[in-house]
Amino acid sequence: MKKNKGKVCLVGAGPGDPGLITVKGLECLKKAAVVVYDHLANRSLLQNVPPLAKMVYVGKKGAFHSQSQEGINALLVREARRGKIVVRLKGGDPFVFGRGGEEAEALAEAGVPFEVVPGVTSAIAVPAYAGIPVTHRDFVSDVAFVTGHEKDEQGASPPDWKALARIGTVVFLMGWRNLAEIARKLVGAGRDPKTPTAVVEWGTLSRQRVVVGTLASIAGEVFRAKIKPPTVIIVGSVVNLRRKINWFEKKPLFGRRILVTRPRSQAGELSRLLSAEGADVVEFPAIEIRPPKNFKALDKAIRNIRRFDWVLWTSVNGVQAFFDRWVHLKKDIRDLAGIRFAAVGPATAKAIEKFHLKVSAVAEEYRAEGLLRAMSRHPLKGKTVLVARAEVARVLLPEKLKKMGARVTEVAAYRMKFPVHRRRELVQLMTKPPIDCLTFASSATVENFSRLLGKSHFHLAKSIPVASIGPLTTRTVRKAGFSRIIQPRQATIPHLASAILDKLKKQTRMD
Ligand code: SAH
Repeated sequence: MKKNKGKVCLVGAGPGDPGLITVKGLECLKKAAVVVYDHLANRSLLQNVPPLAKMVYVGKKGAFHSQSQEGINALLVREARRGKIVVRLKGGDPFVFGRGGEEAEALAEAGVPFEVVPGVTSAIAVPAYAGIPVTHRDFVSDVAFVTGHEKDEQGASPPDWKALARIGTVVFLMGWRNLAEIARKLVGAGRDPKTPTAVVEWGTLSRQRVVVGTLASIAGEVFRAKIKPPTVIIVGSVVNLRRKINWFEKKPLFGRRILVTRPRSQAGELSRLLSAEGADVVEFPAIEIRPPKNFKALDKAIRNIRRFDWVLWTSVNGVQAFFDRWVHLKKDIRDLAGIRFAAVGPATAKAIEKFHLKVSAVAEEYRAEGLLRAMSRHPLKGKTVLVARAEVARVLLPEKLKKMGARVTEVAAYRMKFPVHRRRELVQLMTKPPIDCLTFASSATVENFSRLLGKSHFHLAKSIPVASIGPLTTRTVRKAGFSRIIQPRQATIPHLASAILDKLKKQTRMD
């Protein structure tokens, strides 16, 4: 009999910053067949889930009612019994006000195997990102985590306010709605109304906002600042330390919303570099990478690969698509012996080197002209060159190679698709909280982006600074009607990221 290997992993997603999931939590996501998640678990973590996994969103904003909690429990049991690895991804830590305890009980009762992967709770991490250590030797020696949402914890006894009033640091989760009441009750139980109090909205993310006051003033200040949930409330003298150690909001791109338009498979590097500087990165792929309309030409080239002296790639996508097909055709890597490889830029070269292949010519920047320059150092007369690239591409490269004496075969390794179905999503993105910078790493993304917005909505983007990777893309950016352009000295992603940093950082550091 086949063994049923189904199980449930209750995984803490961390408080928001996707980097704060644990190594073990990430491993669980990577092998999940079903992921059940709610609204506080950062969506970008879901990119780690295998493409065919089933995704179930169960997080309504506000309180769960018991019915839906029962529904979630039943879902977890059902999927695990089908032999699936189910990840129940919960914001923060699953056992800190996350109802993870109830889910674990239900699984235990049903006899379904489960594991708990603790997470970084918002109760500690959110204060930390606001520059507030929940304990400090010079100030307090105890800390309490309290739910501010008494109604949600049906059956649980209400907090002992007298006891809480004597605890050094008190951290409230789910307390936004009852903030005034919480402050009043603490003061009523003997806490000094002048006790420093902070409220942190969307902590650990670039959109984090913090309001600081006293127990007496905080409700009014939060109301005036229009702070909305989710929030963490911190009461105690440690709040004063924020003045000294507020580190996260000092990041140069903190609070800057930057749109990354690269295709999903490539957005990673730029997004990572910008997030590391504190930016709020919004990914909107203005291009989708798809297989070519047919594989005939590519397959023929791969089958006859020994006839070529050179293979040239003009993008990371081309390299990936080529080798995906190579594996699909069950070809042997030894057939590449003796062939030389060329790449249009450092990132493409790196993609080739991942296959343990040495690259003989690399353009210093991401442009056909650069690649031609690199190739001109090699004798090309009479040599056969395979160019594996997108279905529609500039003719410059093959033509110039021919002029250099090469015999060129061009094949489409992939196709770029216009994401027409995402028009509404883009318009919404551009209208809500303002975008501070648009980024383009190819002409095609610029063209698709403007076409998606259309004439009727182009005004939403027109005055936003645009970061363009290099001269060719910049030409397209200008043609599209943008005028505030940032262009790095060299056309690479790291240079693009630092050009954005220089530009946007200067504007923030006026204070
Ligand atoms: N298990 C979670 C808490 C779930 S209860 C944990 O360990 O963090 C939901 C509450 O968590 C919210 O109402 C809010 O008080 C808090 N919270 C979670 N993420 C937050 C964030 N990024 N910023 C502010 N508060 C957050």
